Amino acid sequence: MLKKIDKKIVAYEVISLEEQRKKAAQEAKDKIEDMHENVERPEMLVGATYKIKTPQSEHALYVTINDMVLNHGTEHEVRQPFEIFINSKNMDHFQWVVALTRVMSAVFRKGGDVTFLVDEMKAVFDPQGGYFKPGGGGFMPSIVAEIGFALESHMKMIGLIKEEQMPEAQRNMILAKRAEYETLNGQQKDGDGGDFPADSKMCAKCYTKAVIIMDGCLTCLNCGDSKCG
Ligand SMILES: [Zn+2]
Repeated sequence: MLKKIDKKIVAYEVISLEEQRKKAAQEAKDKIEDMHENVERPEMLVGATYKIKTPQSEHALYVTINDMVLNHGTEHEVRQPFEIFINSKNMDHFQWVVALTRVMSAVFRKGGDVTFLVDEMKAVFDPQGGYFKPGGGGFMPSIVAEIGFALESHMKMIGLIKEEQMPEAQRNMILAKRAEYETLNGQQKDGDGGDFPADSKMCAKCYTKAVIIMDGCLTCLNCGDSKCG
């Protein structure tokens, strides 16, 4: 490129080829990559597969989420979901599953905060009623919601969603409530504290049968959600 110099040259500096290369490399490094629509699919993606087994079908669903590693090797390194696939021998849901995964993958590639997908999906209720996960895993309002839970655990695993730690005070409050309830109802406190009182109701927030009624208040012994009156 030619450039006409129409001012007096007052200073000059010789930059070696090596220095130029170093500078260019540093500049490239300083540029923070973001997820956007035109991001090129790398040759290799890292991912994880989650198995979903519902009592509604004899075949499991396998949810695979592949991530792109942005700003690899820098302090800004992040894993962002790039695409999602769902495989199953069960063809009942084929049509909407393909549509859902294509739309989700498109949302992933748009970039920005994609964690909202988790809440949207977890809030989907099957009009025919949900199901209890086999092996005492709690209630699932729909298959879509369970895919949402899989996405949530994936996003927690890659650090996109921070694991919410229950504050100490709230944990103690729950333990106290539970002890009080068990004393009032003459129930034996079981050793591991794993099971909730047998007459617990379903919690609408964490889908666990752990809600007790005491002093006119509903309290979930699992997540601490509570409503009075
Ligand atoms: Zn709860």
